[in-house]
Amino acid sequence: MSNYHIKNLEEYFQVYRKSVREPENFWQEVAEEHFVWRKKWDNVLSWDFSKPEVKWFENAKLNITENCIDRHLLTNGDKTAIIWEPNEPGDKALHLTYNELHKKVNKFANVLKENGIEKGDRVCIYLPMIPELAYAVLACARIGAIHSVVFAGFSSSALATRTLDADCKMLITSDGSFRGAKTLDLKGIVDRALEDCPDVKTVLVAKRTGAEINMKEGRDKWLEPLMEEASDVCSPEIMDAEDPLFILYTSGSTGKPKGMLHTTAGYMVYSAYTFKNIFKYENDDVYWCTADIGWITGHSYIIYGPLLNGATTVMFEGVPSYPDFGRFWEIVEKHKVNQFYTAPTAIRALAKKSVDLVDNYDLTSIKVLGTVGEPINEEAWHWYDNNIGKSKSPIVDTWWQTETGGIMISPIPFVTPTKPTFATLPFPGIQPVLMDENGDEIKGNQVDGRLCIKFPWPSMARTIWGNHERYRDTYFSAFRNMYFTGDGALRDEVGYYRITGRVDDVIIVSGHNLGTAPIEDAINEHPAVAESAVVGFPHEVKGNALYGFVILKEAGESRNQDNLRKEINQQISDKIGPIAKPDKIQFVAGLPKTRSGKIMRRILRKIASNDTSDLGDTSTLLNPEVVEDIIEGSLNK
Ligand code: ATP
Ligand code: MG
Repeated sequence: MSNYHIKNLEEYFQVYRKSVREPENFWQEVAEEHFVWRKKWDNVLSWDFSKPEVKWFENAKLNITENCIDRHLLTNGDKTAIIWEPNEPGDKALHLTYNELHKKVNKFANVLKENGIEKGDRVCIYLPMIPELAYAVLACARIGAIHSVVFAGFSSSALATRTLDADCKMLITSDGSFRGAKTLDLKGIVDRALEDCPDVKTVLVAKRTGAEINMKEGRDKWLEPLMEEASDVCSPEIMDAEDPLFILYTSGSTGKPKGMLHTTAGYMVYSAYTFKNIFKYENDDVYWCTADIGWITGHSYIIYGPLLNGATTVMFEGVPSYPDFGRFWEIVEKHKVNQFYTAPTAIRALAKKSVDLVDNYDLTSIKVLGTVGEPINEEAWHWYDNNIGKSKSPIVDTWWQTETGGIMISPIPFVTPTKPTFATLPFPGIQPVLMDENGDEIKGNQVDGRLCIKFPWPSMARTIWGNHERYRDTYFSAFRNMYFTGDGALRDEVGYYRITGRVDDVIIVSGHNLGTAPIEDAINEHPAVAESAVVGFPHEVKGNALYGFVILKEAGESRNQDNLRKEINQQISDKIGPIAKPDKIQFVAGLPKTRSGKIMRRILRKIASNDTSDLGDTSTLLNPEVVEDIIEGSLNK
């Protein structure tokens, strides 16, 4: 992949203009230059958002694993494809070359075939961050089976719902998993989940913890012996551009998770092209994304994007807090990581700890930092910039969604000047617009509205698995001929975008639209505050009023709470205006989070409105116990 990098702002604008004026030519050139096609497309794009139906690179033939692995073998077979860092810092990391990855994936693909998996079948993957997870994903893609990865922290009922929804024939798991000091009994969770999933005929079990587990006769098989026996030759299934590649469920922050279906060619082109530009990956770099492969970030930017570029990608089994909060930095030093991509929730957790935990390690290898998943508040941004990037490594604040398949709005490092809390400019090919409540586009700068995308891009999800109507209703019905993201955003005086939060969470106080992110940002600036969440609740006079939930850095902060409230309110008045001051501020020990680490505001909204009888779908909740505590301490009592 040669002349792939966008080098300066002028070139960005040129490329961007071309991508908008001649989108088909633009994407055709990207697709032609950088991939192996068994047959080229007849037509670059056809689309109709009213149905919605979108097809990219129609009738092209390819296999994504041939692009991820085979074509690197001639020149780069001995290059490390995956560095796997185990949970225990003392255990040896695995350095797997492209040649070795090729053999593993082929073997695994043959195991799938021998166990009755064919093109189009769904395979559920419920594995911890061990190498077998990468092999399993790629093995499915090799034979055209549709993978559905479920994060291995989900409960048995959440696993069962997803397995049933995707109608999976096979499930791949392990005997257990290590997460920090804990060992989890994954197989036990699988057994309980499968009581409700009679169509799963085969369970492949990787060995990780060596725990004693139950193996169900005729259904469960150890993976290792099958891998040993299997041939390491497996020719890739030739797929159509629009054949499904995978199903992946959204995080479940706002309600019942949706099984987004992604297809082959467009996803490949977009994940590769964004990876290369947004992380400025260069030949011998070591790239690390700390997400779990159970989320879209892990799909696109641990596996597909990096491997499509022949990169070296780090996969970490453990957690940032084990054996202590210096673990991330220890790994950066050890593997000389050049690009580091994580989430605001992790940054905030690490920023609460002493910087000694950072300063013990040599982070000079770092060139580019990234964040994804939630709006990053200004204080966390500066902490990341100063302590990890040493003020010399640009931060790419990447806005995107499970539905979008790849990064949509983000700085390009060393090209786009960054601005804290701003995702900045759209990636080439992406046409964002802001819409008002009446369905009209809000033109010009220094405006805010609902963020929509008005033109298709290659990696957009094509449907919700088994429920096209829900897909249309959720994303294509609010605004005519637009993809509606569900997020609110503002565009500043130079056209930079800032995501202000989910539109469902936008609170109208005395007629003013208030996004949650800027208010939380102001609260978090207070030196005693670690994290916060703001929601609205009905108010007789104002229509709505604000309720803030605040975690302090020092648990049991001895200072007078009323004084703290006053200071926080003052800060909000200074940064935004008195209108944004919460009526109530409750100090809490924790906030309800999804398993991907995002604040679940809809639960806080219920508590703020004093309506806690039905909290809705909480199966994606990481820490149900904090909900009880918050209700207990609620200021509505
Ligand atoms: P669900 O759709 O089930 O409610 P979810 O939206 O959390 O869950 P994801 O697809 O993982 O599921 O997350 C996408 C959302 O995360 C975006 O719509 C946005 O609200 C938020 N987000 C992601 N990246 C950023 C970012 N850089 N800045 C601000 N918000 C972000
Ligand atoms: Mg969402």
